[in-house]
Amino acid sequence: MTTPWRGVSLRTATSLGVESVADALIEATDADGILNALDRAQRDGVPLTVLGGGTNVVPLARIRGRVLRMALRGVAFERSGNGEVRVTAAAGETWQALVRRCLGSGIAGLENLALIPGAVGAAPIQNIGAYGRELKALVHSVSAIDRCAMAPVSLPPAACAFSYRDSTFKSAPRYIVTGITLNLGAVETEASYPDLALELRRMGRPPTPAWVAEAVARVRRRKLPDPRRIGNVGSFFKNPTVSAATLDRLRGRMEIRAVPTEGRFRVPAARLIEACGWKGHRDGAVGVWPRHALVLVNHGGASGRQVLDLARRIADSVQRRFDVPLEMEPTVLGED
Ligand SMILES: Cc1cc2nc3c(=O)[nH]c(=O)nc-3n(C[C@H](O)[C@H](O)[C@H](O)COP(=O)(O)OP(=O)(O)OC[C@H]3O[C@@H](n4cnc5c(N)ncnc54)[C@H](O)[C@@H]3O)c2cc1C
Repeated sequence: MTTPWRGVSLRTATSLGVESVADALIEATDADGILNALDRAQRDGVPLTVLGGGTNVVPLARIRGRVLRMALRGVAFERSGNGEVRVTAAAGETWQALVRRCLGSGIAGLENLALIPGAVGAAPIQNIGAYGRELKALVHSVSAIDRCAMAPVSLPPAACAFSYRDSTFKSAPRYIVTGITLNLGAVETEASYPDLALELRRMGRPPTPAWVAEAVARVRRRKLPDPRRIGNVGSFFKNPTVSAATLDRLRGRMEIRAVPTEGRFRVPAARLIEACGWKGHRDGAVGVWPRHALVLVNHGGASGRQVLDLARRIADSVQRRFDVPLEMEPTVLGED
């Protein structure tokens, strides 16, 4: 089922809060609705852009064609005897509502991913991750509509090419995700991430799923701006990986954490941006959040282009100073 509007502003449909106009915003409440929307877009020769909660996109002034917002609902639990719970959730469910519902039912696994805004369907797109856990560790399968075959498919993790803030869904957007199935319940608690471990110690609480979620929520509320008040997309850049030689060079100039990954080292982009003096920088309507250098903000009235210009200046200065390229995390939609 789809509900059409014409020439709509997406300013309130995305967390960055910048002005952007699409030809139409339509909603799909089931797989047939998605197939109909794809079919009509194909026949009319217009693009169809998928949107969840709009918390990881930078919309430019004009988005040609239709924007399809995912409004599929439903959550189901399937318990097995050994504590495992298979949780299936539809793409239009709110991620945080799913986290809360699982934890409220005593089902462990999503606690580190608490308070990530957005919809369930977008979670596999960039393999969401936070505080020591990535979605990929929990995925049983992803259901989707294959735009090429115009048919529903179910993809096992091996077909999703999950990696750090990336997947087959993000790098080649052939699929429209309709839902995910997760293996939860019998999941070991992960509480070793430094900020999380420190918060649990401060709270004097054990690393149970409920306390891990609470500690994560406290750290996030302290560090990140609430997108309902200040436009942002969370982390604007991915944490880059560098060679051992580059890491040595960086450590000669500053203290910086590094996590070994496949023969290289992942370093916090925020540290490099901060070292270039951007933290708290403000340039009219756009700026860098004073409590987290990775978060670019719209103080009100900014355009997507202004945000991208600031991002480019930041990335250029990190490249010049440290010879480390930064890659954007959110997806740019439309054009000026
Ligand atoms: C304050 C804040 C904190 C954040 N913290 C984190 C964090 O800790 N970790 C993290 O990983 N991310 C984080 N994010 C980024 C973001 O919340 C997540 O990536 C989230 O999963 C995006 O969900 P969404 O529904 O808003 O996606 P959208 O922004 O609507 O879409 C993102 C991309 O996915 C595509 N897409 C969306 N839904 C579908 C679908 N069903 N099928 C196919 N394509 C689809 C869109 O076309 C777009 O390209 C944060 C963002 C904010 C604002």
